[in-house]
Order: sequence, then C-alpha cells, then structure tokens
Amino acid sequence: MPGGPCQLHRRGVIAVAASAMHCKCEPVLLNLAKAQTRCGMSRPSSVMNTTPRPLPRLDADNRAFWTGGATGKLLIMRCANCATFFHPPRPVCRNCLSEQVQPEAVRGSGAVDTFTVNYQAWYAGLEVPFVIARVALDGAPGVFLTTNIVGCPTDSVNVGDRVSVTFLRQEDIFIPLFEKIA
Ligand SMILES: [Zn+2]
Repeated sequence: MPGGPCQLHRRGVIAVAASAMHCKCEPVLLNLAKAQTRCGMSRPSSVMNTTPRPLPRLDADNRAFWTGGATGKLLIMRCANCATFFHPPRPVCRNCLSEQVQPEAVRGSGAVDTFTVNYQAWYAGLEVPFVIARVALDGAPGVFLTTNIVGCPTDSVNVGDRVSVTFLRQEDIFIPLFEKIA
C-alpha cells in the first residue's frame, strides 16, 4: 500500500505512529517482528520497563525471593530434608512435605524454556514490546521463573538462549529479569 499506512498500522497492531504514514510494508500478520523489519523500522528491543509495576505483597515465604536482589542474589526455596528446589516459595516442600525449607542462592543463570513477545500496553506507561519468558534455572532442576528478557531485540530471543539475572528495583522489591549472555 504505497503512500499510506499498512494494514498492521491501520489496525494499531504496530504502535509506531510517526512512521506509519509512510509505511510501504506488506500486511504480514503472522510475524509482527518480521513485519516491523520489513517496514524498514529499527528492530524493536525488549525494554526494561522502569514504570511502576504491580508489586507483590511481601510475606514470610516470598520475602527472600523478592528482596534477594538487594545483595545481588537470586534466592530460591530449597528443602533441607530432600534437597529439592521449588518455586513459587511456600512453607512446605512440594516433594516431601517437610517444613524444613529455606531460601538458597542459585547461580542466577539459566536458559530460555519458552517465550512470547508482548505488544499490548496493559496499563498506562507500560512500554512495549517486551519479551515474556519462562527461564529454566541452572542448578535448580525443575524450577522455572516467568520473567522478562531485556536489553536485546525482541526478535533475537530464541528457545535455549543462555541468560543471566539482573534486578530491577521498585520500592523495596527487586524484580528478577534476565539478559542474554553474549
Ligand atoms: Zn523436601
């Protein structure tokens, strides 16, 4: 559609209004990231939103996980009886039901198990696009964190990518996010 906005732009799927009026891209609906590349726009990066997020309410069980970033540690609950790591944090081991559980620092590295790219600004000020991923943690078999992959183009993220934790502080919460390991 020379000279006018493409179907994606008209539909508001691609939220780059300034470029939309001169877009000559094809209306490719299956892969938005590739569609944006075809538009000649820069590759969208997975942003680390610094706008205030809905924050978890701290309690005795989850406090270590959400505040461990203050000392640079990713703290995951582990059972002292059977050595199983588990997440989300809870006062009883999911494997053996022991109450002898406590937070333990893991390496902070892992691999992308699965992911999706979010283009929807779910609340005011939320920057898009960004990658929502499930990360399998090294050294904690069976533990997966749902998180964001930040600091890289959204179309550069793949299943199996090696990632490392970084923390975004908001109030007293240190949100564990992940960056690709170069
Ligand atoms: Zn156990």
